[in-house]
Amino acid sequence: MKNIDRSLLQASVMPDVNGYFGEYGGRFVPPMLEPLMQEIAEAYEQIKDDPVFIEELQYLQKHYTGRPSPLFHAKNLSNKLGGAQIFLKREDLNHTGAHKINHCLGEALLAKKMGKKKIIAETGAGQHGVALATAAALVGLDCDIYMGEVDIAKEHPNVVRMGILGARVIPATHGLKTLKEAVDAAFEAYLKDPVNQLYAIGSVVGPHPFPMMVRDFQSIVGREAKEQMLEMEGKLPDNLIACVGGGSNSIGLFSPFLEDLDVNIYGVEPAGTSFKTGDHAATLTLGKPGMIHGFKCYLLQDENGEPAAVNTVASGLDYPGVGPQHSYLKDIKRVTYESITDHEAIEAFFELSRTEGIIPALESAHAVAYAVKLAPKLGKEKTILVNLSGRGDKDVDYVVEKYGKEYGL
Ligand SMILES: *Cc1c(COP(=O)(O)O)cnc(C)c1O
Repeated sequence: MKNIDRSLLQASVMPDVNGYFGEYGGRFVPPMLEPLMQEIAEAYEQIKDDPVFIEELQYLQKHYTGRPSPLFHAKNLSNKLGGAQIFLKREDLNHTGAHKINHCLGEALLAKKMGKKKIIAETGAGQHGVALATAAALVGLDCDIYMGEVDIAKEHPNVVRMGILGARVIPATHGLKTLKEAVDAAFEAYLKDPVNQLYAIGSVVGPHPFPMMVRDFQSIVGREAKEQMLEMEGKLPDNLIACVGGGSNSIGLFSPFLEDLDVNIYGVEPAGTSFKTGDHAATLTLGKPGMIHGFKCYLLQDENGEPAAVNTVASGLDYPGVGPQHSYLKDIKRVTYESITDHEAIEAFFELSRTEGIIPALESAHAVAYAVKLAPKLGKEKTILVNLSGRGDKDVDYVVEKYGKEYGL
């Protein structure tokens, strides 16, 4: 049982009025954006307890996304490892194949209620872009997705998907032409017409209220998991594990358990190929407090204090910052942050595919890999609940091309 001051714990659950979790978060935006962010915060405060909004969102979660997602006891894998029992929260079975649809539906509905005509966002590998384009098509909003020219060339299937869904993919052509430039381009476009557009951020990052809002929309994952675990096992899980990029799927799972101090919680970051700057994205493990995209958090920085280059086999985890709530949860030691290498993630990708017939996203494979390490150290009566944030269909070509030989392909 962990011993954590209740008042520290309280501050880990809700940000203060200015959007701070401890010293992290806040809203560092150009003066022109300040009233717009305030407007979004106020609109969100209004709708989040509105029964009509809640009912509409619940209807879509059930009949469109396919919630609740199942909780699956991975007996083959558990038996093979010979320790704790592993349970998988199957976010990979959601419509569009990952957890991102949870907050995209929320953000699209919010945009609609605010009278916006268009929803815009940046995307790196295209996962957030596809989920948002999907929600925009459903809710009836125009959708512009900003994407680096380099990523557009690399992520062809997702670019095509967004087009089919009716979204416009707009290339960011300056600088390195990847995710950071896409964010710059999207912000610029947002500033040109903030009245008709809503910028839908893709994780629990960015200026207040986004980290709180995206967290709230993702918390359905943890609420369902808690209920399902109680139903299946009659007790809470002993351990939770989720991968951490910006931190949305993980905080979604963790949130409803933060005050259950008997539950050990692990966030798993990508250690990439080495701990040299540029070879990983292990922000909470190796970063220092800093500023990125309008908020304060742990940040991987170069010599000049600028966001450092990052790299991991799972492009969805490729972010030098991390959500402010995670930054605070690390400091108060409520969540333990670990890291997993590219190699370990690939091992876990094949292990889960071949023991359970489930191909995980490479991002989720990081969480599975940590479960594979932890389970044998624990007794058979213990349980580990892993958030399987997405499915691996998007990764199969890349994995086979790069690692196929080692696995007989
Ligand atoms: C985007 C993505 C992630 C990482 O984002 P978080 O905000 O940290 O959850 C993890 N898993 C999958 C499948 C993703 O698409």
